[in-house]
Amino acid sequence: MKVPLLDLKLQYQSIKNEIEPAILKVAESQMLILGEEVAQLEKNIASYCQTDYAVAVSSGTDALLMALMAIDLKQGDEVIIPTYSFFATAGVVVRLGAIPVFVDSEPVAFNIDTKKIKEKINSKTKAIIPVHLYGQCVDINELLKISDEYNIPIIEDCAQAIGAQYSNGKFAGSFGLMGCFSFYPTKNLGAFGEGGIITTNNKEFAEKLKQMRNHGMSPKYYHKFIGGNFRLDALQAAVLNVKFPHLEKWHQARRNNASLYSKLFIEAGLSETEGKTKFDNKNKVLLPKPVYQDSGQNNYHIYNQYIIRVQDRDKLRDFLGKNEIGTEIYYPVSFHRQECFSYLKNNDKDYPIANELSETTIALPIFPELTREQIQFVVEKIKEFYSK
Ligand SMILES: *Cc1c(COP(=O)(O)O)cnc(C)c1O
Repeated sequence: MKVPLLDLKLQYQSIKNEIEPAILKVAESQMLILGEEVAQLEKNIASYCQTDYAVAVSSGTDALLMALMAIDLKQGDEVIIPTYSFFATAGVVVRLGAIPVFVDSEPVAFNIDTKKIKEKINSKTKAIIPVHLYGQCVDINELLKISDEYNIPIIEDCAQAIGAQYSNGKFAGSFGLMGCFSFYPTKNLGAFGEGGIITTNNKEFAEKLKQMRNHGMSPKYYHKFIGGNFRLDALQAAVLNVKFPHLEKWHQARRNNASLYSKLFIEAGLSETEGKTKFDNKNKVLLPKPVYQDSGQNNYHIYNQYIIRVQDRDKLRDFLGKNEIGTEIYYPVSFHRQECFSYLKNNDKDYPIANELSETTIALPIFPELTREQIQFVVEKIKEFYSK
């Protein structure tokens, strides 16, 4: 049985009848950049994420870059980020001449360890970028306390977390100064190319970002500051507007798939319960868990990725590959170990959890159209690997 990591063709087949006329409509109109479709997308996302504004842009990376440009990040400034994330989170900081300050992760949700942030704050710290990794919110209450105490803005990296909720029902992208989202095709809401969006409750920033995506221009051919070409095109917006009403259903399907994995791994004797952090004979597989139950409720995890932790990871991955099961390693090299950041002279021993994660995590197929039989097959094969 073939189980790909992701099969976007299945999603396309299920909404082809809606998408094709929407694309043709843009073709007929020849209104190709920004315009009505983009404005509609901004309305959809702002209302979904419960923010006052949303500004659609060219990618998730550009969303992060623009957010940092909007707070006037300068050479020599510092930005606190998790060391274990997708590269964009760090790249944008350095592109503006600033210094990324890496923080270790916590072992259950794999997010930035909020207990280790304060020690990294100094007078040069200009922002904190938490990443809601794999579709689960960071510990928002703790972050807000730090942000208030030190008066440092939070720029959320929500690239993997559109629609994710903290346990108090707050949406990713609604609690920081700005929330940066990606519409890369593999995200839960994916375009037919590149795209992103920035949410904010701050009118001034919303207006600045709208000018910034168009070379800082306002009015036409007058430039008060330097922006760039960060515009979203209408075809991407049209596709996203068609997909948007399906999003919650797709989240639900991913969540159901995650529950089924957990149930089957536990029944197979590979794990005792979700959220374990130590390997032993009864826990050969460490299962993900929606955490932060301070209000009596779990996080609403949207499972952009379904990440388990295992021993002999690379051998397991080979074995699954031979059985036509697609997997991926997120992220094998944390920022403090990247060659391009060696000049920062970070101490590898300061990041024990991130190091452990990069050596033990593996992403299993979780996309909405996955069948029960496919999930059963994946768990069976993993059981077979560990019984040898
Ligand atoms: C995908 C992703 C980005 C970048 O988004 P693009 O649209 O690919 O530029 C940034 N941060 C994280 C955590 C991501 O997963």
